[in-house]
Amino acid sequence: MTPAYNEEANVPLLYEAVKAVFAKKDMADYDCELIYVDDGSRDGTAAAIDKLTNTKNLTVKFVRFSRNFGKEAAVSAGMQEVTGEAVVILDVDMQHPPAYIPDFVRRWEAGADVVVGVRSQDEHEGLIKSWGSKLFYILMARISDVDIVPRSTDFRLLDRHVVNEFNRFTERSRINRGLIDWLGFDREYIEFKPDERATGTPAYSTKKLINLALNSITSHSMAPLRFAGYLGVGLTLFAGLLGVFIIFENYVFHDAMQLKISNVAMLAIFTVFLMGMVLSSLGLIARYIEAIHAEVFNRPLYVVRRKRGGNDTERPIR
Ligand code: UDP
Ligand code: MG
Repeated sequence: MTPAYNEEANVPLLYEAVKAVFAKKDMADYDCELIYVDDGSRDGTAAAIDKLTNTKNLTVKFVRFSRNFGKEAAVSAGMQEVTGEAVVILDVDMQHPPAYIPDFVRRWEAGADVVVGVRSQDEHEGLIKSWGSKLFYILMARISDVDIVPRSTDFRLLDRHVVNEFNRFTERSRINRGLIDWLGFDREYIEFKPDERATGTPAYSTKKLINLALNSITSHSMAPLRFAGYLGVGLTLFAGLLGVFIIFENYVFHDAMQLKISNVAMLAIFTVFLMGMVLSSLGLIARYIEAIHAEVFNRPLYVVRRKRGGNDTERPIR
């Protein structure tokens, strides 16, 4: 399945590439449904999709949004339409080369539930983008509780079982990649060399990317707010102890150590003490927000891989 936003030229390109993959001998036994989610395109994307025809083992489907809702929404919509045993999510701009689909499928047949495409070295990205993404992965690895492999992309194969679990998510500001990582399951990684975007320009500006990164950090972790709290506790302790020391030294022992602490210095220490209090309260509030956050996201409490016995809702899993 593929999200498409103003991609009229790429729609037939992807179709031809996928058709070629499934026409190959080793893929001829698989039935493929190619689902386009037209994310409210304003160019000829819809017409281009309408022109595509079904072949022996390839069925074209589409979902058309009433306006642009963004890639994450488009992929989520596509996941609702999937009827197959597994789905491959890929960009329509050919940056996720369909030629890798057989590799994904082989890994899946070998037992993987999730197969993640990992970008090999990428000459197409600028310095800011590459440093930005490095920083992002380092940050994410430190502060969140899901494993995130650097350079992993949205180019992924998901088993039916994972799709079903994915479709249970109700949160609104979502990063599908993060949600899939959160689900767990047996995952494997395939390195692929991203192609240059076939036609058109990427819709994701640097601003959008930064937004996306911030969003994934805040939706996966409270670490930034908690950090403010710890800083506050540290400051309060430091300034508090210093204050107590000064009060004794100055007023009880009448400056026996000849420190001659000025009034301004005392005021500064008092101010730092108060700032520490404010920051620690922020950290405390973070705890409450964290609880609310978890409730509104309404994530499943757990995800079952497979089970036996119990009631008859056992799902047949490979
Ligand atoms: N896309 C979408 N809605 C949007 C922006 C992008 O469905 O609002 C699709 C786009 O058509 C493409 C994929 O998401 O299939 C990736 O977009 P793009 O190539 O612009 O981003 P990048 O390659 O930089 O990740
Ligand atoms: Mg792209």
